[in-house]
Amino acid sequence: MPGLTLFVFVLQNFPLSMIEHDVIIIGGGLAGSRAAVEIARTDPRLSIAVIAKTHPIRSHSVAAQGGMAASLKNVDTEDTWEAHAFDTVKGSDYLADQDAVAILTQEAPNVVIDLEHMGVMFSRLPDGRIAQRAFGGHSHRRTCYAADKTGHAILHELVNNLRRYGVTIYDEWYVMRLIVEDGQAKGVVMFRIEDGRLEVARAKAVMFATGGYGRVYNSTSNDFASTGDGLAMTAAAGLPLEDMEFVQFHPTGLYPVGVLISEAVRGEGAYLINSEGERFMERYAPSRMELAPRDITSRAIVKEIRAGRGIHLDGSAGGPFVHLDVRHLGKERIMSRIPFCWEESHRLVGVDAVHEPIPVRPTVHYSMGGIPTNTDGQVRSSPEGLVDGFFAAGEAACVSVHGANRLGSNSLLECVVYGRRTGAAIARYVQNRKLPEIHEAYYIQEANQRIQTLLDSRGKNRVSTVRQAFQDCMTDHCGVFRNESVMQEGLIRLQTVREQAADVYLDDRGKLWNSDLIEALELQSLLTVGEVILTSALNRQESRGSHSREDFLERDDGKFLKHTLAYYSPAGIEIRYFPVTIAQFQPQERKY
Ligand SMILES: Cc1cc2nc3c(=O)[nH]c(=O)nc-3n(C[C@H](O)[C@H](O)[C@H](O)COP(=O)(O)OP(=O)(O)OC[C@H]3O[C@@H](n4cnc5c(N)ncnc54)[C@H](O)[C@@H]3O)c2cc1C
Repeated sequence: MPGLTLFVFVLQNFPLSMIEHDVIIIGGGLAGSRAAVEIARTDPRLSIAVIAKTHPIRSHSVAAQGGMAASLKNVDTEDTWEAHAFDTVKGSDYLADQDAVAILTQEAPNVVIDLEHMGVMFSRLPDGRIAQRAFGGHSHRRTCYAADKTGHAILHELVNNLRRYGVTIYDEWYVMRLIVEDGQAKGVVMFRIEDGRLEVARAKAVMFATGGYGRVYNSTSNDFASTGDGLAMTAAAGLPLEDMEFVQFHPTGLYPVGVLISEAVRGEGAYLINSEGERFMERYAPSRMELAPRDITSRAIVKEIRAGRGIHLDGSAGGPFVHLDVRHLGKERIMSRIPFCWEESHRLVGVDAVHEPIPVRPTVHYSMGGIPTNTDGQVRSSPEGLVDGFFAAGEAACVSVHGANRLGSNSLLECVVYGRRTGAAIARYVQNRKLPEIHEAYYIQEANQRIQTLLDSRGKNRVSTVRQAFQDCMTDHCGVFRNESVMQEGLIRLQTVREQAADVYLDDRGKLWNSDLIEALELQSLLTVGEVILTSALNRQESRGSHSREDFLERDDGKFLKHTLAYYSPAGIEIRYFPVTIAQFQPQERKY
């Protein structure tokens, strides 16, 4: 039926009218959802859309386990926001911007209470107030939690609120391009995964809340959708990415699968043990032991393994993991405080943590760097400049409250505090603005061509094989410990992977639910993000926080107390730097 085919072709490729909203938010995790709620609360007349490649409820935020920090003083009456701010800045190895940290920690108690008013079921103290637990690098017990399913509890309420406030949700739409023209963000190009339909969406403000990039590495706690698309689209629009060399390795990834065993387990009192039965953290952070910050604990585990004090599955020495031991906590506490972690170990590796220690080793967990923003979430084009109409928050953004190393339970907090602030800033920004003009047909045609090229490609390599080669390259060349020659080799190996990526074939050549096609697009994002990480890391000739150089062992404030800005282009990456905001806390040696 040629008539019908033509009709379908026209409808798919040249939609009759563009999608339009006052605001479009890419990402339905904590940051995006919290921003949407704030915009709707501030100005109910605004038309708001959340676009996500997963269903919002399946955003990685839902997997957050341990909790969210705030100096509520319910358990520890000595706590203050200043103490929280100091811990955060010290944890960041003094690279965090202290104005942004002050906002984060001052607003924390309020945003927690606000979530509770929305209906989030936090765990309780016997007197009914919100319970708080210890977490790595925090000097007081300030982490609020819902057992070890905190992200689940918060995200469900936020997404319910999206519906309540009439936010339009485009779920399972893959955003493939950010449209920036003349220094202004105007919209995005998006692809409906269900049937391959392409659309341009325009708006007065565009916000990226696209999460992290854990899938750059071959062992990660992140979900399959954490492929750094938002970062890659920002870079492709000629905008910089900040501090991308700082990749957080979480000390306790379940061996061998890499999924997370929450820090809450150590917060509840678990021990880290090597093949000699020692609590080895004594050697690395005697005052904090298992609750040292993540960068220090991850390095300690890798050093133990390298020194032959790791453990094999048969229990002998010299193996690839160490033990996380909770047996002394007793069954009742394990099942009430960290039930999900028990279940994960049991289901995934057959370990009953009530009776046996859990095998763990570091796994990639979090991206400290990201899209540079000011404290209103507006994206920077340079140290001085801002992009009109473009905002970002959450893990995709770098505001920067985590600097060179994030403390556990500060990320959910960042998503909510900066999601809310960015939402409020957007609601102000869009007032009295017109929808931008976009040459829709041009962008549709370009996206169509990009997709068709992939569908038509008859190369030699499967997408998944190239992705594996890429992840192995990043893991081998830009891991917990780094040095110049290893990273240089990594960049050369990355070029080979790029050539392989240009020579792929897809198993599925259709447009309906083509996950192979989406993975091919995601691979392009991963490659960009990986190259930016390696190049930024190579240029930072010091050790700070999670960035640990074997050829530059010390932190070098004289040369590197500054943020990296990496400008990507296919021809190469340009690195610039800009100053860190120091306020009340002068940099000191970081000891625990
Ligand atoms: C296992 C695990 C446990 C954690 N536990 C804690 C914890 O206890 N406490 C804490 O503070 N932090 C924790 N973190 C970190 C924290 O959960 C995340 O940093 C945070 O939830 C990120 O939220 P987000 O809103 O920025 O992004 P996400 O929740 O990752 O959401 C990203 C969204 O962007 C969408 N998206 C991405 N790319 C595209 C695209 N191309 N097109 C359309 N949509 C797109 C996705 O569909 C998704 O909706 C944990 C992380 C992990 C992985």
